[in-house]
Amino acid sequence: MTKRQQPKGRWIRVERRYAIYFRDGFKCGFCRKTLHEDKPHDIVLDHLHPLSKEGGNDSANLLTSCRPCNGRKKDILFEEYVGIADYQRITKQVQKDMTEFLKLGKLYTLKKFSLEECLRLVDLL
Ligand SMILES: [Zn+2]
Repeated sequence: MTKRQQPKGRWIRVERRYAIYFRDGFKCGFCRKTLHEDKPHDIVLDHLHPLSKEGGNDSANLLTSCRPCNGRKKDILFEEYVGIADYQRITKQVQKDMTEFLKLGKLYTLKKFSLEECLRLVDLL
Protein backbone atom coordinates (compact mmCIF):
# COMPACT_ATOMS: atom_id res chain seq x y z
CA MET A 1 0.00 0.00 0.00
CA THR A 2 1.48 3.38 -0.92
CA LYS A 3 1.38 6.34 1.41
CA ARG A 4 -1.31 8.04 -0.65
CA GLN A 5 -3.64 5.07 -0.33
CA GLN A 6 -3.22 4.78 3.41
CA PRO A 7 -6.46 5.16 5.30
CA LYS A 8 -6.80 8.10 7.69
CA GLY A 9 -4.93 6.82 10.73
CA ARG A 10 -3.30 7.91 13.93
CA TRP A 11 0.24 7.72 12.61
CA ILE A 12 2.07 11.04 12.50
CA ARG A 13 5.72 11.24 11.43
CA VAL A 14 8.10 11.99 14.29
CA GLU A 15 9.47 15.20 12.69
CA ARG A 16 5.96 16.59 12.39
CA ARG A 17 5.07 15.46 15.90
CA TYR A 18 8.03 17.47 17.24
CA ALA A 19 7.22 20.39 14.93
CA ILE A 20 3.81 20.60 16.58
CA TYR A 21 5.32 20.31 20.07
CA PHE A 22 7.66 23.20 19.18
CA ARG A 23 4.79 25.26 17.70
CA ASP A 24 2.97 24.79 21.01
CA GLY A 25 6.09 25.67 23.05
CA PHE A 26 6.18 22.13 24.51
CA LYS A 27 3.22 23.02 26.71
CA CYS A 28 -0.09 21.27 27.12
CA GLY A 29 -2.55 23.35 25.10
CA PHE A 30 -5.29 22.78 27.67
CA CYS A 31 -3.72 23.15 31.15
CA ARG A 32 -0.51 24.94 29.95
CA LYS A 33 1.74 22.52 31.82
CA THR A 34 5.34 22.53 30.52
CA LEU A 35 6.08 19.10 29.07
CA HIS A 36 9.66 19.17 27.79
CA GLU A 37 10.98 17.39 30.86
CA ASP A 38 8.29 14.72 30.68
CA LYS A 39 8.84 11.32 29.11
CA PRO A 40 7.85 11.18 25.41
CA HIS A 41 5.12 8.73 26.39
CA ASP A 42 3.47 11.39 28.57
CA ILE A 43 3.14 13.92 25.73
CA VAL A 44 0.39 13.31 23.21
CA LEU A 45 -1.16 15.05 20.24
CA ASP A 46 -4.81 15.75 20.82
CA HIS A 47 -7.15 15.79 17.82
CA LEU A 48 -9.17 18.97 18.38
CA HIS A 49 -11.84 17.44 16.21
CA PRO A 50 -11.57 13.72 16.99
CA LEU A 51 -10.89 11.26 14.19
CA SER A 52 -14.20 9.67 15.12
CA LYS A 53 -15.90 13.00 14.30
CA GLU A 54 -14.36 13.64 10.89
CA GLY A 55 -11.21 15.29 12.27
CA GLY A 56 -7.95 14.66 10.39
CA ASN A 57 -4.22 14.60 11.02
CA ASP A 58 -3.52 18.08 9.63
CA SER A 59 -1.43 20.30 11.89
CA ALA A 60 -4.31 22.70 12.50
CA ASN A 61 -6.30 19.84 14.04
CA LEU A 62 -3.50 18.70 16.35
CA LEU A 63 -2.59 20.22 19.71
CA THR A 64 0.14 19.26 22.16
CA SER A 65 -1.48 17.82 25.27
CA CYS A 66 -0.54 16.14 28.52
CA ARG A 67 -1.96 12.66 28.94
CA PRO A 68 -4.44 13.58 31.72
CA CYS A 69 -6.00 16.42 29.66
CA ASN A 70 -6.17 14.23 26.59
CA GLY A 71 -7.86 11.54 28.67
CA ARG A 72 -10.40 13.99 30.08
CA LYS A 73 -11.28 15.50 26.70
CA LYS A 74 -11.79 12.07 25.09
CA ASP A 75 -13.89 12.31 21.93
CA ILE A 76 -15.38 15.71 22.65
CA LEU A 77 -15.01 18.49 20.06
CA PHE A 78 -12.56 20.97 21.52
CA GLU A 79 -14.98 23.90 21.19
CA GLU A 80 -17.33 21.97 23.46
CA TYR A 81 -14.52 21.23 25.91
CA VAL A 82 -12.84 24.64 26.45
CA GLY A 83 -14.11 28.10 27.36
CA ILE A 84 -14.13 31.03 24.96
CA ALA A 85 -10.70 32.40 25.99
CA ASP A 86 -8.98 29.04 25.44
CA TYR A 87 -10.97 28.56 22.24
CA GLN A 88 -9.55 31.79 20.82
CA ARG A 89 -6.01 31.11 22.04
CA ILE A 90 -5.91 27.54 20.72
CA THR A 91 -7.51 28.42 17.38
CA LYS A 92 -4.87 31.09 16.79
CA GLN A 93 -2.04 28.81 17.94
CA VAL A 94 -2.88 25.87 15.65
CA GLN A 95 -3.18 28.12 12.60
CA LYS A 96 0.44 29.30 12.83
CA ASP A 97 2.52 28.72 9.72
CA MET A 98 4.36 25.41 10.19
CA THR A 99 7.35 26.01 7.86
CA GLU A 100 9.93 26.95 10.51
CA PHE A 101 8.60 24.50 13.09
CA LEU A 102 8.87 21.65 10.57
CA LYS A 103 12.52 22.59 9.95
CA LEU A 104 13.15 22.53 13.70
CA GLY A 105 11.33 19.20 14.08
CA LYS A 106 13.57 17.73 11.43
CA LEU A 107 16.80 19.17 12.91
CA TYR A 108 15.83 17.88 16.34
CA THR A 109 14.97 14.43 14.99
CA LEU A 110 18.34 14.30 13.18
CA LYS A 111 19.96 15.29 16.51
CA LYS A 112 21.56 18.38 14.94
CA PHE A 113 20.07 20.54 17.69
CA SER A 114 19.34 19.67 21.30
CA LEU A 115 15.90 20.14 22.78
CA GLU A 116 17.15 23.20 24.70
CA GLU A 117 18.55 24.74 21.49
CA CYS A 118 15.29 24.13 19.67
CA LEU A 119 13.27 25.66 22.50
CA ARG A 120 15.53 28.72 22.45
CA LEU A 121 14.91 29.08 18.70
CA VAL A 122 11.17 28.65 19.19
CA ASP A 123 11.20 31.73 21.41
CA LEU A 124 12.50 33.71 18.42
CA LEU A 125 9.77 32.53 16.02
ZN1 LIG B 1 -2.81 19.29 30.31
